[in-house]
Amino acid sequence: MSKALYLDDMLLKEFEAEVVSVKDGKYVVLNQTAFYPKSGGIANDVGTLTRGSEVFNVVYVGKFGSDISHEVDKEGLQVGDKVSCTLDWERRYKLMRYHTCAHVLSGAFYKNLGAKITGNDIASTEQGRIDFNLEHFDRSLIEEQVEKSNKIIQENHPVEVYYLTRSEVEKDPDLVKLAMGIPKGIKNLRIVDIKNFDRQPDGGCHIQALKEIGKISIKKLVNKGKNNRRLYFTIE
Ligand SMILES: [Zn+2]
Repeated sequence: MSKALYLDDMLLKEFEAEVVSVKDGKYVVLNQTAFYPKSGGIANDVGTLTRGSEVFNVVYVGKFGSDISHEVDKEGLQVGDKVSCTLDWERRYKLMRYHTCAHVLSGAFYKNLGAKITGNDIASTEQGRIDFNLEHFDRSLIEEQVEKSNKIIQENHPVEVYYLTRSEVEKDPDLVKLAMGIPKGIKNLRIVDIKNFDRQPDGGCHIQALKEIGKISIKKLVNKGKNNRRLYFTIE
């Protein structure tokens, strides 16, 4: 079991850890980690684990049960090794900006058009994607939501993260539906709250205030057939 440091400190870039297991030479579990594993439609972090003067590049991070596994580019790490760990912060920060941006766009489509978000993917630092249900493929209507999202970003709402108990969440009409998919065993739910805009249970990493996102541009709109629309966007 690895302690996921990114849940409570999303700005942590460097940390010390101990190797608790190694599988096939290259899949390393640490007692604690700030590396975000690929999940929830967000790409994983990359970076380095350093033992003494020897550097192991982290090329992929995945979550397997309660373990967060770091795939490194060479064998050699052993159980009990102490390692200094560093995230590729430029990449992580951009992923956080993209992911938080997906929250804003999803919120705008839902609030203004009642469009249900069916997927989102932040697979790289080059672009983001959201999928949503909208009856008519109306380009100007979609452009309007992007403009509204850019306005929300300019309002610079703070983004806060806190925990609520399951019973608190079940009493909250905004959260109860979203929380239903979360396993019953989880008693405290992590809530991401874009102040005065949108709240949801969420395990991802986010920036601290919306202006950090920058400005959204539409890269491509795709008509995926009956009700399904796809928006590729970039931020700068
Ligand atoms: Zn999120």
